[in-house]
Amino acid sequence: MKRNLIRLAALAAILLLFGGCGRQPQYAEHSFFAMDTLITLRISRRTADGDELDDVRMNAIFAQAEQFVQAAERVLSRTLADSDTARLNESDAGISCTDGMLPAVMTRALEIADATGGAFSPAMGRLTDLWNISGGGPVPSPEKIREALAHTDFRALSVDGMCILKSDPSLCADLGAVAKGWTAGQLCKKLSESGAAWGIVSLGGNVGVFGDKPDGNAYKIGISDPDASGEIIGYLLIKRGTVAVSGDYERFFEENGVRYHHIIDSADGMPADSGLRSTAVFSEDGALADALSTALFVMGAERALAYYDAHPGTFEAILITDESEVILTPGLVLGDDFTLNGEKYRVQT
Ligand code: AMP
Ligand code: MG
Repeated sequence: MKRNLIRLAALAAILLLFGGCGRQPQYAEHSFFAMDTLITLRISRRTADGDELDDVRMNAIFAQAEQFVQAAERVLSRTLADSDTARLNESDAGISCTDGMLPAVMTRALEIADATGGAFSPAMGRLTDLWNISGGGPVPSPEKIREALAHTDFRALSVDGMCILKSDPSLCADLGAVAKGWTAGQLCKKLSESGAAWGIVSLGGNVGVFGDKPDGNAYKIGISDPDASGEIIGYLLIKRGTVAVSGDYERFFEENGVRYHHIIDSADGMPADSGLRSTAVFSEDGALADALSTALFVMGAERALAYYDAHPGTFEAILITDESEVILTPGLVLGDDFTLNGEKYRVQT
């Protein structure tokens, strides 16, 4: 419990939401704990046509949304014993699913793994187990890292209809870098379909927004300072879509003065040492935002910007380097889409 509370505090610092609403909220809020994080839903009390949603209706919408997140967790979590992902990891050759969720998420995850050359990979389970970052380590031996690395090739995973197949029996899937962003995107879609005119969903470092706020303003998303919990280095304005953040400050342990964090480079099996401290990715596709926040962190600034050039119109990103520099992808206009807060960081132009 204590660990959970500490984690909640850390996650709350990743992204702060500013709804920009007046004293009498035109929205209702619902929070719960799932997917190992605090989840907050904030939605308008009105439909896009201006009709009021009464408390009964609001409660039903929130209950449905919470059920959806719990269902997603039951399928996508690798630590819940009976989840499809856990069954996949225990199987030798794959599983047949009764629910289409894992095939859908895995298909998208494999597409992104392919596009990023494995910088994001849904097959990192053996390495993330070995590093045991949330459990405090210890640093594994090079032999063990080599052995785990031999079983992290995402090409050994495939989707065939409702079946997920694996050609390496020792491979373990880990969807931790994509599940929350995918869920954020799905939640926005469902909440919008339920009638709410606008809303914000927050799932531990993934914030999704939908609909137009009554004041017409964009949603203001605070980007955390990797070095100072609760401090904001700047604000990103978005109208719709999901912002996902990955940072070396989210989960880590220290050994002999060295920080070992939770984003692992599939090239060498070590916590990525790419010169970045944090990446925030905006996309209309929640799964893409989340997976790319992890992938760009692994790639480092130069490769991340080359990846951006090769995939026009699909995402924007804010990269924070270990030299306190902030790099914006060219689609983000400084002072318009992103505003720096304070003088500790400088934007590279
Ligand atoms: P995120 O916070 O979205 O960057 O996701 C990090 C989580 O995804 C870690 O806690 C691991 O469970 C898993 N992970 C670590 N490295 C990778 C990687 N290179 N690709 C995909 N998932 C990863
Ligand atoms: Mg991610």
